[in-house]
Amino acid sequence: MGNLYSYCPLCGDGLVEKSVDHKTRKVCKSCEFIHYQNPVPAAGVILVEEGRVLLVKRKYEPRVGMWTLPAGFMEMDEDAPTCAVREAKEETNLDVELVRLFDVYSAFDDPRTAVVLVLYLVRRTGGELKCGDDASDARYFDLTDLPQTIAFRAHRTALADVQKQFAAGLI
Ligand SMILES: [Zn+2]
Repeated sequence: MGNLYSYCPLCGDGLVEKSVDHKTRKVCKSCEFIHYQNPVPAAGVILVEEGRVLLVKRKYEPRVGMWTLPAGFMEMDEDAPTCAVREAKEETNLDVELVRLFDVYSAFDDPRTAVVLVLYLVRRTGGELKCGDDASDARYFDLTDLPQTIAFRAHRTALADVQKQFAAGLI
């Protein structure tokens, strides 16, 4: 999964597979480099208003044309709440503030990398809804009538949890 190095990024020599810490990893033939692979953290928002949840339509691969919660990968200098609020603004133009942590999901069906997705329940504080550069559409869907084409399993699982919590009066 993800892009594997073919050559050592430190010295340029070839990599060979070796067991390190009980896992097969690529290690450099010449230097100390070990190609550890870890999930990439992402963060996003769950904005529910009057029984409807905000989703965005993917403009780019993978899963172009499918729907997800507004979310994206964290930058190196960013914490999870900052990333979630930034992604909401970039993808939907809405200003949001955090209400609470909703849940954390692991995802293994994104062809780019394994992902740890941190989702926050948020409320809207401003802005006018319009889709941003990464999205081809942004709109609210009734929680009882979500689109069939949710792009990633983590988002499908999260939305099922949102439906349950909403039905139980917890959102
Ligand atoms: Zn090397």
